[in-house]
Amino acid sequence: MTGTRPEPAAVVCTPLAAEHAAVARALRPLPVVRTGKGPARSATSAARAEVRDRPLVVAGLAGAVADDLQPGDLVVATEVRATELPGGGLPGAGAPTVIPAAPLVAGALRRAGLPARLGPIGSTDRIVHGAARARFAADGALAVDLESAQLAAAAGEHPVLVLRAVVDTPRHPLLRPGTAVRGLRALRNLRAAAPVVRQWQQALGERQLVLASPRSFCAGVARAIEIVERALDRYPGPVYVRRQIVHNAHVVRELEQRGARFVAELSEVPPNSRVILAAHGVAPEVHLQAAERGLQVIDATCPLVSKVHNEVRRYAAQGNTVFLIGHADHEEVVGSRGQAPDQVIVVADVAEAAGVRPADPDRVAYAMQTTLAVDEAEQIADVLRARFPRLTAPAREDICYATTNRQRAIRSIAAEAELVLVVGSANSSNSARLVEVAERAGTPAYLVEDAGEVELSWLAGVRRIGISAGASAPPHLVEELVAALAGLGPVQLDNRDVVDEHVQFSLPREVS
Ligand code: SF4
Repeated sequence: MTGTRPEPAAVVCTPLAAEHAAVARALRPLPVVRTGKGPARSATSAARAEVRDRPLVVAGLAGAVADDLQPGDLVVATEVRATELPGGGLPGAGAPTVIPAAPLVAGALRRAGLPARLGPIGSTDRIVHGAARARFAADGALAVDLESAQLAAAAGEHPVLVLRAVVDTPRHPLLRPGTAVRGLRALRNLRAAAPVVRQWQQALGERQLVLASPRSFCAGVARAIEIVERALDRYPGPVYVRRQIVHNAHVVRELEQRGARFVAELSEVPPNSRVILAAHGVAPEVHLQAAERGLQVIDATCPLVSKVHNEVRRYAAQGNTVFLIGHADHEEVVGSRGQAPDQVIVVADVAEAAGVRPADPDRVAYAMQTTLAVDEAEQIADVLRARFPRLTAPAREDICYATTNRQRAIRSIAAEAELVLVVGSANSSNSARLVEVAERAGTPAYLVEDAGEVELSWLAGVRRIGISAGASAPPHLVEELVAALAGLGPVQLDNRDVVDEHVQFSLPREVS
């Protein structure tokens, strides 16, 4: 990126002397300024030249308002809300300060073994107790302090980090036995957070974000999720889902919150209940087991996986040994292999393709897992074709359009990026392949479940980041990642459309 403007040096604001003493040495070489207790002193300090209009950290203590926080917990503010209490005033506090990069910091603190929580902080003019504390909690705040609103507002357009360590909680109010011990624990954790604060500062800067398109949900995943949502809306009583409906932890959590009950095996589903089978498809024995238990099945298998199932059964019925190119332990491959288990040989790589021994070399066919790396799968197929001249191939590619398009899109941006981030779960095959494709272009690439898994150290000095997401990763996770990176400095977004996708699959009759 040309004309990149580095952020000015960050300043750390510590309202109290004890907070300053706890972190000043640990945060060197960052300047740490004592800004004074309460909103009035904070407003005065916020006007100082060394504090205003620059990246700014507020580091200090706070009172928890949420019941589940413990003394010593670190609250990373997603937002600072100035809240005026009756008879009070908040000089210098503006609109809420939103802090989109907070998940990056909270993730780094957790990886460092610190008890970090992510959420809004209320900022007011007095220590709150009882009903006032409960009121902040009811508004969704995790903690409350006396200075962050004025100090955070001083940063203007620059990045902000508000980090508060909990001293008192609803169960452990101030001025009770143990307050001093709890205060020391909080200051110790605040000091232990110093390396992460320095990493945050080193990650600041203007960036270009190049978004590979298409990315995120494919038609098969969108269909599977819609099947669950419609079943939850339509049918009274519990709706069970066998295994992850798609390989994404966020999708599963969101559907669980809507009422879906996920199980590992059908034996966990009460007889005569309704159960949805996941998008990756299953072996016929799973359907048999469902029938034996009297289950009402809604099959969310992606039609493109069903195509592979049909191929495997057809090739096997013709007396062929079927080479199934894929990863033996992946759920899709387990389901595809199960279509003709005695005649399928799973082939994971070129070495296995070179050594495989079918019963009759003239009666052989192959099929593929839908989510493989296109180039690697072709190399394996080449070896099989060279060894078995009569090898029968699928009439149309088994690697699905979504996998192919996402790999093309990430390949088109990877070489020009300094870093590639792929949003997806670790057990998502197509997401893992996107990382490999980017790495083969010579660019460091990482798979992240969400913004919280991005390590700040990856971002230091990096000005151009490529972004994609696996076919099972929700688009909102990409939006949150972009917002988090934009919280580290101005970003220029560049959406690279490689292919337009218009694929849609019809729904099964049970939910259509
Ligand atoms: S990645 Fe391909 S095969 Fe898998 S659900 Fe999506 S469209 Fe279907």
